[in-house]
Amino acid sequence: MNDFYFFITDNKRGTPYAPTIVSSNPIYLDNCPKCDATRFNENNRDLSLIIEGKRALPDYLNCGHYSLCIVSDKVIEAWQKNNVTGYTVFPIKKLFTDKKGNELSTNVQYFNVTITGRAELDYKQMNIKIKKQCSKCGYIEYNKDTWEFGTAVIKTGTYDGSDLFVVKGFEAMPICTIKMLEIVYKEKLTNFAFRSYKSLFSYLHLPPAVDLKTIFK
Ligand SMILES: [Zn+2]
Repeated sequence: MNDFYFFITDNKRGTPYAPTIVSSNPIYLDNCPKCDATRFNENNRDLSLIIEGKRALPDYLNCGHYSLCIVSDKVIEAWQKNNVTGYTVFPIKKLFTDKKGNELSTNVQYFNVTITGRAELDYKQMNIKIKKQCSKCGYIEYNKDTWEFGTAVIKTGTYDGSDLFVVKGFEAMPICTIKMLEIVYKEKLTNFAFRSYKSLFSYLHLPPAVDLKTIFK
């Protein structure tokens, strides 16, 4: 089995982030009329961001509670150079410093990444049962909460081979191959924190992030 990692922003103290999305379209769609689940508007490509924090802009930008993967042009260039597969990108339109509409002057262009690679969890091995699935929006109700899922297991034969992928049902949690870790290390891309995909659901008690220096020294 391949070695996979999931990644989130590292968010060392003082790292600028983007808690506010400015958009001409709704960020969230109306709740599902059938099951009342919250629905993120995944087709919303027309995004601008309000950035908070004064230090150098990170290559992987935290967006508060929004499940977006926003990376710098430096990241996209490195992915292209290394033939990374499993994503599409949409440029972030504008960066603002505040709600009054003051634009941030910077050389960094950010991109909103949609991850297209796919795999599925092995619910049987993980001892998880699907209680209900909404026939309208696909929302799944499991027999336990996600933080009780334990070790994540990818179902054999479901991984499509992409360098970047997500597991079905958890599309906001990006997973990658070791190639991504090597790129981040070699290109000195900032604000990425990688952990084994097995701890994907251990977000209440995350293990320490992988120390890239010890892997690639
Ligand atoms: Zn629904």
